[in-house]
Amino acid sequence: MKNKSMTAEKETGSPYKAPSGQAHKKTFCRICEAHCGLRVDFDAEGAITSLRPDRDHPVSQGYVCAKGTRFLEVANHPERLMHPLVRQPDGTYQQVSWKEALDYFKDRIRPILKTSGPHAIAMYLGTPAIHNILGGLAYI
Ligand code: SF4
Repeated sequence: MKNKSMTAEKETGSPYKAPSGQAHKKTFCRICEAHCGLRVDFDAEGAITSLRPDRDHPVSQGYVCAKGTRFLEVANHPERLMHPLVRQPDGTYQQVSWKEALDYFKDRIRPILKTSGPHAIAMYLGTPAIHNILGGLAYI
């Protein structure tokens, strides 16, 4: 599966050019705390073409679960959210800018904080956000 949204430069820096002409780079899965080693293959344009287990990784030694090597399907999924959406009164969703989304969030959260305090608010993060050590928590 060819991934046009994830490129070598955007996601992992310049790929290592193997002598055979096939580009690949070592990285690791960020979905959970195991951080299994992965090898990323790129095509000539730098688009990621596959994720494979890295048998040379000193810890995972080629182990990955089904999620690690299937993440291109997530990245390329046609329903993947690429921008903020705000639910409208009729139940539909409207695309907004990040500034609009954060302002909307602020306008709804601040009155709750003011009237009920911080314990009135809860937040859920799944393991990909929690364990993405490259900045998953930076946007909170
Ligand atoms: S491949 Fe599976 S076990 Fe390994 S880090 Fe990714 S999600 Fe976790």
